[in-house]
Amino acid sequence: MFNQDFLNHIHSLLLTTVKVNEPLKHYTTSGVGGEATYLVSVTTLDQAQATIKLASEYHIPVLVLGGGSNVIISDAGFDGLVIRCLITDFRIETEEQNGSLNTPVIPRFSQTVKNDWYVSNKLQPSFSDQTPTVLVTVGAGWKNTALIQKCLKENITGLEWFMGIPGSVGGGVYMNIHGGSYFYSDFIQRVTVIDTVGNVKQYASSDLAFGYDSSLLQKTHEMVVLVTFRLYYGDVVLAQKNAHYWGTTKVAHQPQKSAGCLFQNLTAQQQQQLNLPTPSVGYLIDHVLGLKGKTCGGARISPKHCAFIENMGDATAADYKNLVELIEQTAVTKTGIALTREVEFI
Ligand SMILES: Cc1cc2nc3c(=O)[nH]c(=O)nc-3n(C[C@H](O)[C@H](O)[C@H](O)COP(=O)(O)OP(=O)(O)OC[C@H]3O[C@@H](n4cnc5c(N)ncnc54)[C@H](O)[C@@H]3O)c2cc1C
Repeated sequence: MFNQDFLNHIHSLLLTTVKVNEPLKHYTTSGVGGEATYLVSVTTLDQAQATIKLASEYHIPVLVLGGGSNVIISDAGFDGLVIRCLITDFRIETEEQNGSLNTPVIPRFSQTVKNDWYVSNKLQPSFSDQTPTVLVTVGAGWKNTALIQKCLKENITGLEWFMGIPGSVGGGVYMNIHGGSYFYSDFIQRVTVIDTVGNVKQYASSDLAFGYDSSLLQKTHEMVVLVTFRLYYGDVVLAQKNAHYWGTTKVAHQPQKSAGCLFQNLTAQQQQQLNLPTPSVGYLIDHVLGLKGKTCGGARISPKHCAFIENMGDATAADYKNLVELIEQTAVTKTGIALTREVEFI
């Protein structure tokens, strides 16, 4: 549905390059994805707003892309406008507030498991309920790793558990990412979005229906532009140690040329039903389904971590889809369990 008027209009509006028929495999961590009819990168809220408003006036479908680390985009591509969010504002709002984190929507770990986890990994938290807090507003285009490093330079801690997650802040809010013993939502105070017709709106964290791998944004399809986190003037040395430990552990155990973990872990009930030592879906795929190392075209169920499919060089989205469906069907046949997808097929 190429539209030359739209292309001219958006080009004159943004005064920036608009790519046409752009291969999306260059923008995803899995390295798969067909072409986008148009692709534009936005670096400010105003640019994002003007772009979405114009696309809505021309009835052009929009896909917002952050780090491309949780999507498998079809080999047929995306017939519409892909907006890459590269907004990287960084503002310290108010310092030295008092108080603890948001009450978790769902506790990631119980307090006992959390304490044991720190001890077994020889780590200590960088903050406690007594540590002074600080509100920081950042652009949704920050990559997690770069933002954590920027925060640590400003003596701000808290986000270190998201080290090594290759996504952006916007994608992190959309998915409510989890790292260490935390969810992103534990730290989020408010979120500024642009709705599908170009209006700017603000949500308090409590309005965003955060859950395990879920948020309201998966229903509204609004674009996150700014996020205000409540973080800590905590112990930077401990935070750096935790970030290093966590980041390197993840890289050692997870294939990077992938779209992350494909499925949510098992519920406590499913784990009990199958009498497994862990809720890890990787363990299930390896030890119960016996699919470790299985290939389809250029894609392989990773021997490093069976919940990840890695691109061995020339995988297609169809290869990924076939392997995902094979895992799902085998899980139903062998265990009666319907797995829940974490990765999004577009
Ligand atoms: C090696 C590896 C390790 C990973 N480890 C973890 C982990 O430990 N924990 C975890 O939770 N996840 C993990 N993931 C998954 C992934 O990194 C997260 O889900 C991440 O938050 C996705 O962010 P993204 O910017 O890459 O989103 P994308 O993949 O670009 O997009 C995902 C979805 O978010 C939407 N989106 C992106 N940006 C915005 C925005 N600004 N506004 C609105 N919607 C937006 C997209 O439209 C899409 O629907 C891992 C992935 C990989 C490849």
